[in-house]
Amino acid sequence: MKNYLLCFFVLAAAVVLLPRASALLPDREEEPFLGVLDAESGEIFSLPLEDYVIGVMETLSLPPETEARKAIAVAIRSRALYCKEHTPVHKNAALCNDPACCLGFATAEFSPENVSAAAETAGQVLTYQGRPAAALFHESAGKYTASAFSVYGVEVPYLQGVKNLEEGVTEAFTFSREKLLSLLGIPSRIPPEDLFWGYDRFGRVQVLEWESGSLTGEQVQSLLGLPSTCFTLSLGVEKVHILCHGRGNGVGLSLNGASILAREGKDYTEILAFYFPKLSLET
Ligand SMILES: [Zn+2]
Repeated sequence: MKNYLLCFFVLAAAVVLLPRASALLPDREEEPFLGVLDAESGEIFSLPLEDYVIGVMETLSLPPETEARKAIAVAIRSRALYCKEHTPVHKNAALCNDPACCLGFATAEFSPENVSAAAETAGQVLTYQGRPAAALFHESAGKYTASAFSVYGVEVPYLQGVKNLEEGVTEAFTFSREKLLSLLGIPSRIPPEDLFWGYDRFGRVQVLEWESGSLTGEQVQSLLGLPSTCFTLSLGVEKVHILCHGRGNGVGLSLNGASILAREGKDYTEILAFYFPKLSLET
C-alpha cells in the first residue's frame, strides 16, 4: 500500500518488550506478537496482537456503536497480520506507529469500550484466499467507497468501491480564481475553464490536466487542503467553489458508514461483509 511506502524511518536494532496487559483479555497463550516500530525513537516494540488492536483504536475517532467498534477491531487485526505476512517496509517490524505511514498507536490507558470490542472479536480475521487481508478503513466515504486501484494505482481484488449508505461529511471551500491557480502551480494566464478534471466512476478526482502539466487527484487534494478527492467545482466570475464529500481516501471500511449500519441494527459481521464482500471472516 502506498501509505507504507511513504515511510523512510531508519530502523534501530533494539527490541523493547512492553509489559503484557494480561489482565485485559483472557486466555492469551496462543496470541501472536507483533513488531511495531516507534517512529520517534527508532525502537521496535514487540507486543501482543490484541494490545496493538486496542492501542490503534485509542488513537481513532470511533463511532460509539458497539458493533461498529467490533468491525474496526477486526479490520485493524486483519491489516496488522497482513503486514506481518508481507515484506514489511520496516524490515524487522510489521508496522510503525506513525499515522502518516501506518497507523497511530497509544499505550496509555485503554477504554473499556475498545477493550470489549477487541475481546469480543479476539482472533477473528478477514481473509482473502485463506490469508489475512489488508482491510483498510477511512473516516467517511461519500456515496461510494473508492477502489485501491483508483487511489493507489494497485489492483486489489477485495478493495473495490461499493455503493455506500452515507452522503458523507460535506464541506464547502472557496478560492479566488487566482489563488486556485497559484496553489496548484498553474500559470495564471490559463483560465480555470480550460482545466480538465478527470474523475473515476466513484466520483473522485483522478487527474487534473492543463496544456503544459498535470496533477493527480491526491496532489490536488493536498495542495488545496481538501479532506478527500471526492469533490466538484463550480466556477464563478471571481471565485471557484468546491464541494467536497467525505474525509480520507475512501478505501475499505467507512467509519461513518459503519456507524450508520450499526444504528440500522447490523452486527459487525454484516458491516464487514458490506464493505468487504469478497473477504471471509475466520477465527
Ligand atoms: Zn509505517
